[in-house]
Amino acid sequence: MPHYAIEAPQAPGLAIEGTDALFPVRRVYCIGRNYAAHAIEMGHDPDREPPFFFQKNPDNLDPSGSFPYPPHSSDVHHEVEMAVALKSGGTNIPVDSALDHVFGYALSLDMTRRDLQSEAKKLGRPWEIGKAFERSAPIGPIHRASDTGHLDRGRIALTLNGEVRQEGDLNQMIWKVPEMISYLSEYFELAPGDVILSGTPSGVGPVQRGDVMEVSVEGLGKMAVKVV
Ligand code: MN
Repeated sequence: MPHYAIEAPQAPGLAIEGTDALFPVRRVYCIGRNYAAHAIEMGHDPDREPPFFFQKNPDNLDPSGSFPYPPHSSDVHHEVEMAVALKSGGTNIPVDSALDHVFGYALSLDMTRRDLQSEAKKLGRPWEIGKAFERSAPIGPIHRASDTGHLDRGRIALTLNGEVRQEGDLNQMIWKVPEMISYLSEYFELAPGDVILSGTPSGVGPVQRGDVMEVSVEGLGKMAVKVV
């Protein structure tokens, strides 16, 4: 056992449907503007430009079912996304074999301090303050791909206090899951425990304390998250 000078942080562990074993998280990558209708609503061209990614911190993933409204923002948006959990990795992974690295899929949210992100964009600054804050990525249990099959179509949606706000289909992703894995692996070394948030359909919007978000993806069920 290594001997640390201070208490060693634990790798966050995510629940896995149907087992007591946890999924250990190493890194979290998120793709931007991966559904055309969302790119348009954010004022961008939906053409297939090269994808871009940002990161959240592993311990931003939060399975608790509640989302604390973060400080220093008055415009916090919901983005429903499907999370992809990797069981293996590497570099220069071909698109053809990329799905072999997928352990499973989960419901997730890429909560965003839109006001701080917009300011960062204007000033050419990095996005962490708008994206990688505490508990910014509510996530449900991981469903093993061996149980669900690989998810490349099906409804993805978010309701806010029972009203549908976001709705799309996984087949509307501009960059498909195998392409995202392959592309990322050209720039980073992917490894077991990496999680990729695969982008949000259109309809993003603000939340307030007391709101209940319910996210769903066909094949992964539903998850409710309360803003507190
Ligand atoms: Mn997002």
